[in-house]
Amino acid sequence: MRNFDTDCVHPLNEELYNGAVTSGIQPAVAYEYIDRKTLQYPGFYSTYNQQRLGQIICNLEQGAWGMVFSSGMAAISTAILSFLNNEDHIIFSKDLYGGTLKFANDELPKRGIKCSFAGDVEAFKNLIHKNTRIIYIETPSNPLLNILPLEEIAAIAKANNILTIIDNTFASPINQLPLLHGFDISVHSGTKYLGGHNDLPYGALVSGSHENKDVIFNTAKMYGGSLTPYECYMAERSLKTLSLRVKKQNENALAIAEYLNGNTNIENVYYPGLFSHPQYSIAVKQMNGFGGMLSFELKTGFEGVTAFQQKLKLISPALSLGGVESLICSPAVTSHRYLTKEERYAIGIKDSLLRLSVGIEDTRDIIEDIQQAMQQAL
Ligand SMILES: *Cc1c(COP(=O)(O)O)cnc(C)c1O
Repeated sequence: MRNFDTDCVHPLNEELYNGAVTSGIQPAVAYEYIDRKTLQYPGFYSTYNQQRLGQIICNLEQGAWGMVFSSGMAAISTAILSFLNNEDHIIFSKDLYGGTLKFANDELPKRGIKCSFAGDVEAFKNLIHKNTRIIYIETPSNPLLNILPLEEIAAIAKANNILTIIDNTFASPINQLPLLHGFDISVHSGTKYLGGHNDLPYGALVSGSHENKDVIFNTAKMYGGSLTPYECYMAERSLKTLSLRVKKQNENALAIAEYLNGNTNIENVYYPGLFSHPQYSIAVKQMNGFGGMLSFELKTGFEGVTAFQQKLKLISPALSLGGVESLICSPAVTSHRYLTKEERYAIGIKDSLLRLSVGIEDTRDIIEDIQQAMQQAL
């Protein structure tokens, strides 16, 4: 590990084919199983590019080993299913990515797995039973950017011999290294910051220990979800600018959060980098940057929210996040549309809430776009 900026550009610190300055694409899916020089059986199954990409992301997350998948959900479901059997119990953090929440509510119970949901450290502690195998969290969370204390949760889990998994998508390894705070496994939707261009779906898993490699690798093989060499190459290419992109997104998001915080059209701003954020001090302790995601409530009903998005010229009303383009969405009609209004309000997601994924455009242009849309719509 050198410094992040350098490691992103020169990830494996190796000599490449014929002095090339970038890696190649090796499409082979069949490899000789006898190493003719050493007469050893290397037993490789994954392709050259899959292995490279897994290793690169592992180095960025400072883990022991890593692997990649065809989507974030493939990485998440593989991580969870590798360790749970009939009658086992898993505790999730309350705020979850919609797909993970659906997986917990619809898929795991079919397999006889019990799921609970915790909103704070006390709740995690109180929900632990003899059959609890996994604690699974997201921090910062979607869409309200709640922060959970990594080290406290990891310590509680360790004391009870429970595996810890974090979805580190929102932070990216540039802003948060959960394995250094005691977490066992970090998963990513590479579709977001790691890919970074809103054009490449993939997923990644990094583990802090070699012990669980076989069980995860075997589950991954059974359920499919592998990434092609071409996509791996695209992902590797995107990672070269990861640090550059995320730092710019951090800067932009903080400036926008501060702008919105003082604006008369705004009810609330949710950004862990604001001093007024309820878990600001935890964020400062465990994050190296506050990220490019923020949410805010307009002082208007749902019609105003729609009109505001309609008037935006630079920022696109679109799902997904983490890319170079700024995107905005209304969780009430997108990620959380399956909940009733009462259920939504109970978890703090109002009709007036908007989630902004800040891109790498000039800060002034993003703010100007928000300003002109507010002037016209509100
Ligand atoms: C998008 C997302 C996922 C799912 O990733 P896919 O690549 O779309 O399968 C999981 N977790 C978080 C936090 C996400 O934002």
